Amino acid sequence: MPARDTFPHSACASAAAGQPDAAPDRSPPDAAQPRELPTPAFAAAFAQALLGWFAVHKRPLPWRFGYEPYSVWISEVMLQQTQMERGVGYFLRWMTRFPDAASVAAASEDELLKVWEGLGYYSRVRNLHKAAKALVERHGGELPDDPEAIRALPGIGPYTAGAIAGIAFNRDVTCIDANVERVLSRVFDIDTPVRAQPAAGRIRALAAALLPPGRARDFNQALMELGALVCRKKPQCASCPLASLCESLRLGIPHERPVPGRKQPITPLEVATGVLVHGGRIYIQKRPDEGVWAGFWEFPGGCVEKDETPDAAIVREYAEETAFRIAVRDKLAVIRHGYTTYRVTLHCYLCALDDAPGGGNGCGPSPASAPPAPPVLDAATEYRWVEFAELPRFTFPAGHRKLIDQLTTDLRFALYR
Ligand code: SF4
Repeated sequence: MPARDTFPHSACASAAAGQPDAAPDRSPPDAAQPRELPTPAFAAAFAQALLGWFAVHKRPLPWRFGYEPYSVWISEVMLQQTQMERGVGYFLRWMTRFPDAASVAAASEDELLKVWEGLGYYSRVRNLHKAAKALVERHGGELPDDPEAIRALPGIGPYTAGAIAGIAFNRDVTCIDANVERVLSRVFDIDTPVRAQPAAGRIRALAAALLPPGRARDFNQALMELGALVCRKKPQCASCPLASLCESLRLGIPHERPVPGRKQPITPLEVATGVLVHGGRIYIQKRPDEGVWAGFWEFPGGCVEKDETPDAAIVREYAEETAFRIAVRDKLAVIRHGYTTYRVTLHCYLCALDDAPGGGNGCGPSPASAPPAPPVLDAATEYRWVEFAELPRFTFPAGHRKLIDQLTTDLRFALYR
């Protein structure tokens, strides 16, 4: 079976399947639920300590000025799987370009992807697009405050709906992310994997029981903030407002909580890609609308097959994907890139058309070169021949962006442009 793509659809499809909210198991808790819920006195002490700490230590994040629902929505979607420092920069750029749901709904997917480029988990931006369109149609572009109505928008999962209802509208709804799981699993010494039942249901029940009515906005954020700043992977128990209430601290085992789930094995992938230059222009193509890196532009390539060399793989891939006969001229780089559970080694080549008119290597900036025949697109929906300076206008997968960055300073490559 041919290895069609730089990041093969079949291998990676489940990792990027575009499910709303990459959330833990939220299926209904088993019959043992709820057990050992906190007493009202414990819940009151917990809330008082937590909210007092948050009032002093909360970070001045841009969406916390006014809690405008659209801002809260964008921040919550961006911060899933993204570190705060990185997320804030993306958030500010996004809000400048797309200040409301109507501007998201009116934008093309290419425009949205370009502003999102580098944040990863691109199904999130596609889900945002779907939800914004529905929001304009059903609610005139304004988010409703009812959690069920928010949840009914396409692409919005239970976590995001809870975050919008609880944080933007201060409805008595909890939202549980990895930070909340870590804090509660430690305070209540939950000794089974937090993302599976019965722990997932217990954490949900505990959060609901601890939530002080009318304080959802601060309570939800305070739990997440504590997990991000104090109850980190290496907990700072000496400065924790919940220390006197924390069972795992009392037992001396905070580092043993939360109990992790089974780790997914890492799969190494050997991949080849080729930068095909002709007449001073570079060939790029647009990936299909479904699957991994859907709608991104790329240099053709794919997995190196068993008993195949990377340079042979790129010649084969070009033939399969475009029907171009190409020749490898130079090895440009080897780029290592982690992607979900994959560790990709990307072998990057400079290539020319093997039957370039006039002989020579076909790569150089020769305006007299006749344009090549159009490709036969087998793994793409569009193609372009572009100048190197035009590449930043297009959205590329991370591994290819790293390659473009390297080529910017590669003197050998400059000779061919
Ligand atoms: S006391 Fe330590 S383990 Fe317990 S919640 Fe605070 S930081 Fe986390």
